[in-house]
Amino acid sequence: MIVAIASGKGGTGKTTVAVSLAISSSPITLIDADVEEPNANILLRANKPTSKQARLPFPIVNMNKCDFCEECSNFCAYNAIVVLEGLRVFAVKEICKSCGGCALVCPKDAIHEQPRTIGHIRKGERGGVKLIEGELNIAETTTTRLIGMLLDYEEKNGDVIIDCPPGAAHPTVESLRYADYVIMVTEPTPLGFHDLKETLMITKKLNKKVGVIINRSDLGNIDSLKKFLNSKKIPVLLEIPFSEDICLHYSRGISPSEYSPQWRETFRKLWNYIKKSQN
Ligand code: SF4
Ligand code: SF4
Repeated sequence: MIVAIASGKGGTGKTTVAVSLAISSSPITLIDADVEEPNANILLRANKPTSKQARLPFPIVNMNKCDFCEECSNFCAYNAIVVLEGLRVFAVKEICKSCGGCALVCPKDAIHEQPRTIGHIRKGERGGVKLIEGELNIAETTTTRLIGMLLDYEEKNGDVIIDCPPGAAHPTVESLRYADYVIMVTEPTPLGFHDLKETLMITKKLNKKVGVIINRSDLGNIDSLKKFLNSKKIPVLLEIPFSEDICLHYSRGISPSEYSPQWRETFRKLWNYIKKSQN
């Protein structure tokens, strides 16, 4: 079973839920797909993650073959390859999506591809939780491609939890691709409510089963949130009231399931509930 943990916005406690659920449901694989800011391992503390470079092909132009015909730049939907007539033809790495199209359409066979490092994929393990995390290099725009590599990297033959990027943009859509079930983590504030609704539009479009965890459930208008979820027939899986205890442990890099047997049991029951709902 693959369970994705998503949130409409950052700071809702999505990663705390993902790590707590993973610890309570081990043996399991936890994929940190929040590649622009991976932080699940701050709470998991997996031992010495191994690392490999994440690479994508990048077009290089052989100017001895090029006749400046502009086929490549006309083809590129991202305007990522520039033809300076009589001078140079080059791809811009900050824009190029490594689709390989320009090399295919070049009539002079003047473009070949070289691997370019866009970030890293790390693996580690702690207490039966296998961690796979991706980290995008600074100023890279190939977020979705790295998430795709992460998800394809895992054999997906056991239970998997995906800690998705926050928001309702393309990286989140990519992270939800394989999910059997999506847990949305939100809070009962106007902003939380607004962003939840946006992300639920994506899960509906992708036809995913969804349940909601309401974090800091006592710090807003939970009634209107519950009324909305009820009208959409989306179950509230768990309510987590604001807790100084959770905050204090979080600030030390310790998740609820690690410091509290009660929370571990709560998340274990939640995992079993989701698993049963798949049958
Ligand atoms: S398509 Fe090939 S030959 Fe034409 S401008 Fe691009 S690199 Fe040069
Ligand atoms: S690889 Fe694709 S995105 Fe990059 S320059 Fe070529 S056509 Fe454009």
